[in-house]
Amino acid sequence: MKEYHIGIDVGGTSVKLGIVDRDCRILCRRSYGTPKGMDGSQAVDLIVSGIQSVLHACGLTSDGIASVGVGVPGTVRYGYGIVDSSPNFPKWHRFDIRRELSERLSVPVVVDNDAKMAAAGEKFAGAAVPYDNFVLVTIGTGIGGAVYANGLPVRGRDGTAGEIGHIVVEPEGMECGCGSNGCVEMYASAGAIVRYYRARSHDRSRAVTAEDVYRRAIMREPPAMYAFRQMGMYLGIALTDVVNLLNPEALIFTGKVSRAIRLFLPSVKAVVNRRAFRLPSRGIVYRKGTLGDDAAIIGAVCRARP
Ligand SMILES: [Zn+2]
Repeated sequence: MKEYHIGIDVGGTSVKLGIVDRDCRILCRRSYGTPKGMDGSQAVDLIVSGIQSVLHACGLTSDGIASVGVGVPGTVRYGYGIVDSSPNFPKWHRFDIRRELSERLSVPVVVDNDAKMAAAGEKFAGAAVPYDNFVLVTIGTGIGGAVYANGLPVRGRDGTAGEIGHIVVEPEGMECGCGSNGCVEMYASAGAIVRYYRARSHDRSRAVTAEDVYRRAIMREPPAMYAFRQMGMYLGIALTDVVNLLNPEALIFTGKVSRAIRLFLPSVKAVVNRRAFRLPSRGIVYRKGTLGDDAAIIGAVCRARP
C-alpha cells in the first residue's frame, strides 16, 4: 500500500527532504548542501539519491511512496511542472523538473514555487488553517510571498503573483537583483538589518550577521533594536499596499528573520495602522508560521497528495 509522501524544499544553499505520513507528520528528514549554480540534471540526481538515503535511514522502501512534491525558488508554470527561471539557479531555464523526476521515480510529482508550497503547508497544517484570505511573507536573505484568496492560491497569468519582495518602498532606492530599484527586499531582509545596525553602531566588522544583530537586540542594545524597527517600518510600507490590495484576514511570517517577529512587528503594525485603509487594517491577525523550516516540505506533500 502506498502510505507515505515525500516533500522536498529546494533552496539556494540546501535541499531538504522529508517523509511525511497521511496526517502531515514528518517521519524522517534529511538535508543536503546544494552545489553552487547546480544545473537541472545535478538537481535531479541530488533529489533522487536524497530520497533513497532518507528512505533507507527511515527503514522504508520506494514501493510505499504515493507522491512527491517539490518546492523550488523561482517562477513555476504550475500546471506543467516547469521551472521558467530561478534566481538561485541561473542554469534552470524552462527546466521540466516534473517530467525528469517522475520518469526517474515512477510516481506522481507536483512542483511549485517554494513560498507557495510554504503557504500551502501553513494553510493545511499550520498557522493559516483558519483563514481563507491570507498572505504569507517569507523573510530571510530575500523576501518572498504567497497569496491565498477565497481559500485558493493566487498564481496570476505566469505564476509570479505574490512576489511582494519587489514592492517599491524607495523610488530612488538601492538596485535590486530583479532589475528595479528600491524594492522592499533591499530594505527589510537579513542584509538590510545588518546594514542598519552597522550604520548606527559604527561597527564595520564584516563578520556581523543578522543573527548577531538579533542576539544584540534581545540584549536591548539600542543600534540592534533600531535595525529591527527600521526593517519593520519598510516592511510595513510594503504590507500597507498588500492590505489595501487584498484585504487579507491574516499576515503570516515565515523564514529565518521571522524568529525576530516581536522585534519588528510593532513597527510593521504602526505603519500599516497609520497608512492602510482603516477597514482592512483593523482586525488583521499578524502571526508567525508554526511549521518553521518544515512548511514547504509539508506544503509540497499537501499539494502532491492525491
Ligand atoms: Zn526587486
